[in-house]
Amino acid sequence: MANSNAATSDQARVLDAVPTDLLIGGSWSAAAEHATFPVNDPATGKELSQVADASPADGLRALDAAVAAQRDFAATSPRERYDMLMKAFGLLTERIDDLALLMTLEMGKPLAESRGEITYAAEFFRHFAGEALRIDGGYQTAPAGGARFLVTKQPVGPCLLITPWNFPMAMGTRKIGPAIAAGCTSVIKPAAQTPLSMLALGQILIDAGVPDGVVNIVTTTDAGGVMEPLIKSGKARKLSFTGSTKIGKVLLEQCADKVLRTSMELGGNAPFLVFDDADLDEAVAGAMAAKMRNMGEACTAANRIYVQRGVAEDFAGRLAEKMKALQVGPGTADGTQVGPLIDDAGRSKVVDLVADATERGARVLTGGQVPDGDGFFYPPTVLLDVPGDARMAQEEIFGPVASIIPFDEEDAVVEAANDTPYGLVSYVFTNDLRRALRVAERLESGMVGLNQGVVSNPAAPFGGIKESGLGREGGSVGIDEFLEVKYIGISV
Ligand code: NAP
Repeated sequence: MANSNAATSDQARVLDAVPTDLLIGGSWSAAAEHATFPVNDPATGKELSQVADASPADGLRALDAAVAAQRDFAATSPRERYDMLMKAFGLLTERIDDLALLMTLEMGKPLAESRGEITYAAEFFRHFAGEALRIDGGYQTAPAGGARFLVTKQPVGPCLLITPWNFPMAMGTRKIGPAIAAGCTSVIKPAAQTPLSMLALGQILIDAGVPDGVVNIVTTTDAGGVMEPLIKSGKARKLSFTGSTKIGKVLLEQCADKVLRTSMELGGNAPFLVFDDADLDEAVAGAMAAKMRNMGEACTAANRIYVQRGVAEDFAGRLAEKMKALQVGPGTADGTQVGPLIDDAGRSKVVDLVADATERGARVLTGGQVPDGDGFFYPPTVLLDVPGDARMAQEEIFGPVASIIPFDEEDAVVEAANDTPYGLVSYVFTNDLRRALRVAERLESGMVGLNQGVVSNPAAPFGGIKESGLGREGGSVGIDEFLEVKYIGISV
């Protein structure tokens, strides 16, 4: 009892400490008419807090603040921007316990995963601090002589950054890090379901000495109504979006109006290929990581697990055993490995996809039943013999359901893997080096995990092809998304 009281008072303290207003021009300010909206705990469905509900006019106020700060911020030295990012990295690391609890409360993932995300999020600041110092240029003699080319890179200008609910902190730092490193100001709109982590990050950026107006945060329940006027205002120069392909397409059309630079990190439908020469223990561990990170609510989640027929039953049995052993519960409870899904709609979609697959002949090896009680829980589930025309083979499942599809031959499985409009990430498990490279090169995706189930790393270029997106985040190229190349021709 004493422990549960301590846990409850920790939650109250962490919630009390989060700013709930809009961050505009370096100050926290209420939305027009003091409008607010609730943030709920997906483990209980209960309200955690109320945050400011921005109007379109509030959004424009935030963009004006970003525009006003742009010129001076672009003139800061790389070392000054390095120092800010490293200070923010230090504060994120120092406050990891409270930030993890906050994230678990609003998003549902187990505390250990929230801690993992804060560490990952902080690493984007450390990584891009270094990149700020490495922005380069060039000087060259024109091929015909008689002129010199000076090539330099400049910040794009004020940016609009829109992030999803599934990684409430890391999807933000993956954009804010390179924006600050490049010298860009921004307006950030986090997802309405998980605004608290971004608001806490806003306070960290203030504490880290980021100048007023460089980072502005707008929370709202009217995403389209607030963001479209900003996109079309002619004042912003770039949009960086992480979210669904459906909304990404709407935003690309809006960006055409003023020809904004765009970076789009969109949906996925990742194939996970296990050949019969693979180390099955390694492949099962990889599938657990690729499937169960974030309860399956990840753009990188293994959505279609293709296993060569001779080992399919064995692989599926071992995976089912591991999935069945996972402890499901509120993310804040000790020992929880699988938290609730984000909301009722998210869970209903998983229920529908499983019903569709089983009606078409898939076998349920474990899970598949919604438990009684509060919260949006769904059990770890393994389905074998999922037919290629099942909905879950074509749509993002976004839940803890492993969908296994046996295959016979390499050519056919590569063709099936590529038979999707998406192209974010693929996974391949094999011990044959030639096959590994051959298949990795043929897979139509921006990233391939070879004998590993997680590809995310701040120092690597993350991103997709086809309808999974445009541009890359992280790596040495992530900062280029926030820089314009300028060439100055010099007569000598
Ligand atoms: P979503 O519905 O597209 O929402 C993403 C963000 O866009 C949210 O902040 C949302 O605000 C906002 N938004 C919605 N409609 C908008 C509009 N008309 N104009 C401007 N902004 C708008 O996606 P989600 O359900 O939050 O996130 C899950 C999706 O993100 C999945 O498809 C997943 O694969 C993808 N994702 C991709 C990556 C990647 O790196 N490729 C990473 C993570 C997630 P509200 O919250 O107010 O609706």
